[in-house]
Amino acid sequence: MVEAPRHFQKAEEKLAKAQRELSRKKKGKSGRKKARLKVAKLHRKIANQRKDFHHKVARRLVNAYGTIVHEDLNILALSRSYVAKGIHDAGWAAFLQILAYKAEEAGRRVIKVDPKYTSQDCPVCGHREKKPLWVRAYTCPQCGALLHR
Ligand SMILES: [Zn+2]
Repeated sequence: MVEAPRHFQKAEEKLAKAQRELSRKKKGKSGRKKARLKVAKLHRKIANQRKDFHHKVARRLVNAYGTIVHEDLNILALSRSYVAKGIHDAGWAAFLQILAYKAEEAGRRVIKVDPKYTSQDCPVCGHREKKPLWVRAYTCPQCGALLHR
């Protein structure tokens, strides 16, 4: 399990604040240009932080595992329709690209799987059960394996 770093959240809060300030500035005023530059700068900073984070996680995975399995994003995208997920998937796609080339460089195997049932099937015994989204940790009723969603 990998947690997103705290500084993302902080930078995103700053960006939201800067965007609110920008929307309050009148067009043509010098203060507006400054506010716009601030927003652009924060966007760049967040993009760089995200890229850096992607590289670190990919490096860690490639160093630790010989085979890496992930959900096939193309199939995943087809099964989703709302916009927020699309934005999330864009970051995920960028990460998978970095992971793919680092894995290839290191001679690791990367396997894409159909995302269908990946959060429902027990990897130990194969028992399939649909869980509500709020269930993060789960004990398989069939084999007793303790699993994270
Ligand atoms: Zn099981």
